Amino acid sequence: MKIRIIGAGPAGLLYAWLMKRDDPSHDVRVFERDPEDATYGWGVVFSDVALAFVRELAPELYLRMTEHQVVFDEMAVVHQGQHVELAHNTFHRMARIDLLKALHAACREVGVAIEFERRVEDIAGFEDCDLIVAADGANSAIRTRLQAHFEPILDERPNLLAWYGTTRLFQPLSLIFRQIPDGLAIAHTYQYSPTHSTFLVEVDPATFAKAGLARMSEAESLAWCERAFVDDLQGHALLSNRSNWFRYTIVKNRHWHWRNVVLIGDALRTGHPSVGSGTRLALQDSIALFDAWKEAGSDVPRMLKAFVRLRRPGSDSLQLAAIKSCEWYEDLGPKLGLDPISFAYDYLTRSGRVDHAEVRKRDPVLAAAWERLHPEFEG
Ligand SMILES: Cc1cc2nc3c(=O)[nH]c(=O)nc-3n(C[C@H](O)[C@H](O)[C@H](O)COP(=O)(O)OP(=O)(O)OC[C@H]3O[C@@H](n4cnc5c(N)ncnc54)[C@H](O)[C@@H]3O)c2cc1C
Repeated sequence: MKIRIIGAGPAGLLYAWLMKRDDPSHDVRVFERDPEDATYGWGVVFSDVALAFVRELAPELYLRMTEHQVVFDEMAVVHQGQHVELAHNTFHRMARIDLLKALHAACREVGVAIEFERRVEDIAGFEDCDLIVAADGANSAIRTRLQAHFEPILDERPNLLAWYGTTRLFQPLSLIFRQIPDGLAIAHTYQYSPTHSTFLVEVDPATFAKAGLARMSEAESLAWCERAFVDDLQGHALLSNRSNWFRYTIVKNRHWHWRNVVLIGDALRTGHPSVGSGTRLALQDSIALFDAWKEAGSDVPRMLKAFVRLRRPGSDSLQLAAIKSCEWYEDLGPKLGLDPISFAYDYLTRSGRVDHAEVRKRDPVLAAAWERLHPEFEG
């Protein structure tokens, strides 16, 4: 098959690798608008199960992808200045650039061609291809160009985010809620390498307006965030990498494919950074599209139907959990009066996928502390 992939993120690269490794006669080429060593953002985090499916499918690629990862078992919720540890929350963390480098090298080894600094915004010129894979991220130009066929639903959320790094090593992964004179500042932070942590700051629109963040330069915003988290950063600076404020968009598409064009990864559907599932969703799309090819061969219409059948239920359910999580952060006002234990418990059960029985199993210490504070609960 002649396959053209737009976007060398995790989704596009894993799909390219799977197809070419399985059958070297495939002609697979990936187009990426950025230079090879460019990356946006800092580290990424995965839950323990998130990479298990890569390990099952391709143990050698898993080893490569996780070569520079750090794995820790706990996380902490910091509310009213008190740290509440949540046990058995294992997270794998790594620099996004290391993940991409591992995938670049694996792709090259099996003979995938990757063209960097090649922006593609239209499928004109790809008429002789069997399959065109749009893996060009949340703002997909291909999806926008073909929106009449994919019918995307774009839901821009109200909160604002800025993605920083820092040399302060946050271990365990910490969610920090600081009530400050301007309102509420939230940090999602975790160590992802021996030297650096990701530090993602989130604020609601009222805080954003009161602080005047819209009028600030990048450096002034960074300084405002440093002041908000001065007790947590302990003298370390925040580091910027195009760390401008942005609103996260939840992406859905009514149709996942049109003719021989298919969407995967963030172009198809986003998760939310608060559940750290976007890369997992993207990688699972690549695997499902590969499995669909195994099932239907080069009968492209059948293959794309199989892709939707294999992938849609899992994708919808994880996205629903991501939406519930993102809504929890947007509606924290009534919860800020909760004591730190009840607040951390509320966090843990926010997506609806974890109930009290599950909290008891995962973290009996937290469950017992919460039960003491809520004697009315009959579990
Ligand atoms: C602030 C923030 C924090 C996040 N944290 C996490 C986390 O901790 N864990 C996690 O799992 N996920 C996280 N995510 C989500 C994760 O980054 C994405 O879900 C994941 O990268 C999706 O992979 P993808 O391959 O679909 O898209 P992307 O990684 O976005 O890759 C798309 C690629 O396409 C390229 N491209 C775009 N347009 C064109 C074009 N016109 N022509 C050619 N190339 C193009 C881009 O340069 C890019 O390389 C986070 C996202 C954000 C915004």
